[in-house]
Amino acid sequence: GITRMRGFGTTIFSEMTALATRTGAINLGQGFPDTDGPGLMLRTAVNAIQSGQNQYAPGPGTPDLRTAIARHQGDWYGLDFDPDTEILVTAGATEAIAATLLGLCEPGDEVLCVEPYYDSYAAVIALAGAVRRPVTLRPPDYRLDTAALAASITPRTRVILINSPHNPTGAVFDRHELAEVARLCVQHDLIAVTDEVYEHIVFHGEHVPLATLPGMRDRTVTISSAGKTFSATGWKVGWICAAPDLVAAVARVKQFLTFTNAAPFQPAVAAALGLPRDYFTSLASDLRAKRDLLCQGLVAAGFDVHIPAGTYFVTADAAPLGGEDGIAFCRALPERAGVVAVPVGVFYDQEAHDVVPGASLVRFAFCKQDNVLQEAVRRLEGLR
Ligand code: PMP
Ligand code: GLN
Repeated sequence: GITRMRGFGTTIFSEMTALATRTGAINLGQGFPDTDGPGLMLRTAVNAIQSGQNQYAPGPGTPDLRTAIARHQGDWYGLDFDPDTEILVTAGATEAIAATLLGLCEPGDEVLCVEPYYDSYAAVIALAGAVRRPVTLRPPDYRLDTAALAASITPRTRVILINSPHNPTGAVFDRHELAEVARLCVQHDLIAVTDEVYEHIVFHGEHVPLATLPGMRDRTVTISSAGKTFSATGWKVGWICAAPDLVAAVARVKQFLTFTNAAPFQPAVAAALGLPRDYFTSLASDLRAKRDLLCQGLVAAGFDVHIPAGTYFVTADAAPLGGEDGIAFCRALPERAGVVAVPVGVFYDQEAHDVVPGASLVRFAFCKQDNVLQEAVRRLEGLR
């Protein structure tokens, strides 16, 4: 393989899901729900397939989906995007991230990113020939260190890559933290890329879209996806919203990565985005109850738990259970307790630290049926 990809082995998600499959352990590692999304969405997809919408969709996405995305941004956040020039449908948020960074970064450009980060960020920054500059979130609160962010800006900085609600920590950045990000972007003429795939999964505080802050509307690429909001991670329908010049730069790359994707799923996601507010608020309230169930169980099992404000992940310190090495702890956990989790240390920049922070942290997903979570908790209590 190429030098740029050296150091990027198999993703932790593949490794841990394979471990769950092999051992039959309960998979609280990779983040995907074990129930289906809204019936209207599923029926719309079935109808689309049966009525022959099985060929290439338009490159930018179907007009109905782009219109629905624009309407959602307007209804929820008061943001006004033109469906024809300011929205691009992608193969999940993953392709959105890839096409955005490949489309906006010259080799040698620096990308500030908040670590621990979703693992595709580092790989795509490397593919683009860009340089990552991590800004570290630390337990127990994982607040954004805006002074460190400011100090990391150099003349080569091009992009600040933000993710809120934040995977894997569950932090939801507040208006003050994000206002400082916005101020730095304006002051240094930077582009913000904001991964908001967990926008509707917030338990404490509120989701503040970066694009709503002063000066940010036209310098922000907002990324989201149907995977989390509509429990359809396998459909891989994502999108970006941004000013026309930014969308054009991303679309230029996207057309050669996948050209188009998910034709019959696009009308289905369009229908889902138009669901009444109840749908979205129940998603969060259902997950809040699951969060509480799992967090209580983790505390009872002896973990030091960091209660998440958003996402469907909780991080816990395994050191009290002998898990100083989170990777070894997670590899042994199926044997010890019949549960799979993901070590958080791998989401910190491995090259930026002599001692990688968060080595004893592990991440559990709670987007599972209550009986599954109850059984996981019962098993984990045996760790003590
Ligand atoms: N960003 C974050 C923060 C994620 O957690 C994920 C994975 N769920 C993605 C992007 C990728 O989203 P998708 O499955 O839509 O490609
Ligand atoms: N986003 C999910 C997670 O963080 C799944 C990611 C993946 O499988 N690549 O667990």
